[in-house]
Amino acid sequence: MRGADRPILSEVRAAERSAGDEPLRAPSGTHDILPPESAVFEGVVARFASRARLAGYGLALTPLFEELAVFSRGVGSSTDVVTKEMYDFVDKGGRHLALRPEVTASVARAYVQHRPTLPWRVWYWGPQFRYERPQAGRYRQFWQLGAEVLGTGDPDLDVEVIELAWTFCEGERIPGLSLALNSLGDGACRPAYRERLLAFLEPLAAQLCPEHQTRYRDNPLRVLDCKRPACRDATAAAPTPLEALCPSCRTHFARVQEGLASLGIPAVVTPRLVRGLDYYTRTTFEITASALSASQDAVGGGGRYDGLVAALGGPETPGIGFSLGLDRLLLARGDDAPAPEAGLEAFVVDLTGGGAALVLTSRLRRAGVAVERAFDSRSLRAQLRMADRSGAAVALIIGPAERAAGEVRLHPLRGGEESVVAIEEVEGALRALDGAGERPRRTGNEEQA
Ligand code: AMP
Repeated sequence: MRGADRPILSEVRAAERSAGDEPLRAPSGTHDILPPESAVFEGVVARFASRARLAGYGLALTPLFEELAVFSRGVGSSTDVVTKEMYDFVDKGGRHLALRPEVTASVARAYVQHRPTLPWRVWYWGPQFRYERPQAGRYRQFWQLGAEVLGTGDPDLDVEVIELAWTFCEGERIPGLSLALNSLGDGACRPAYRERLLAFLEPLAAQLCPEHQTRYRDNPLRVLDCKRPACRDATAAAPTPLEALCPSCRTHFARVQEGLASLGIPAVVTPRLVRGLDYYTRTTFEITASALSASQDAVGGGGRYDGLVAALGGPETPGIGFSLGLDRLLLARGDDAPAPEAGLEAFVVDLTGGGAALVLTSRLRRAGVAVERAFDSRSLRAQLRMADRSGAAVALIIGPAERAAGEVRLHPLRGGEESVVAIEEVEGALRALDGAGERPRRTGNEEQA
């Protein structure tokens, strides 16, 4: 829609009239991640970044919205993600766009557009958008961490990628992890398997769940993954993709299993594991955590997508990757207990009206010291109370006398003697305290990095 056709202005005015002073809330299915919990979130991302860097991955930041075709052609036009959950819209220039529901298709699109040297390893993190029914662990905006490698079909790479996902989750100390593994076949064996599955489902169609009664023809593999009892019962004896693998897919899958075993990674072959995105070929996997509710127990998953780049207009290029749900990782870790505020070292208490604190905090922060201060010319008592609550080890007190003498009073907040230092020696004095163990150790990100 363009210009005057757009109802946006009248909608804005109507909303203003009706809303009055109602406090506004985040949209349904979204949630704020705020301090101190966000420090845990930040720590998980930082640890993933350093693991990915060690394995040669560079960071890829792709747009939060793409041409709709990136997802309809990439993820699959009959998937739930595209048909039911996409936040798509027409922009002011008439382009049909979609908020990204996932990143793999965007990474493949970026590869087609920029053609970096292969093999190309990238990692990412960021929000995804899916119009789902919100519940614990299932949101409309959620966060993923992931990694993708384009350019080789070697099964050793499958092992390496699965190892990264698995060992990262293990390192995050998530209880009750398990790894399900499957192969979906390739362009040679998958079409024949699909026909075989369709022939199996045809006479049972009336027994499937209401949704799959009408939709099983579009995407028969998804019926295997359906959690509803009707589909479970009707397909108990269905042929699985594993039974129909061609010899080269069978060899590939065997190599992946051997490789995982040689690294001590306990993969459980799960013949009905299908996953919801159409681009997967050969290896697919999913990591679940027992701490999550059964219907949403997947912490992450991934697999090979050897046809994706070609589906987006690029040359035949194999690829494999995974994504982990950051919200679910945090839920599974049980991080209700907020991390302490990240390492505040000092708190400036200014009794001169604020100007001294302005200059001192600026100088200390530029020198790499984590420092806070009070505002609004509060009393000494009020400022010291704030200093104490801030978690800092030391209050740096400047009154008119200290300012005149070019000094600061170092007032330990967790026991110890008060001392007076020249204002230009504050950094050195704080470092000396740190050496003596009186400064709080940094927490949050660095703690487990
Ligand atoms: P997918 O991109 O569908 O393979 O999902 C990968 C991972 O992202 C899942 O295993 C979940 O951990 C997470 N995830 C997917 N959808 C949602 C959602 N709606 N809310 C929260 N996490 C999600």
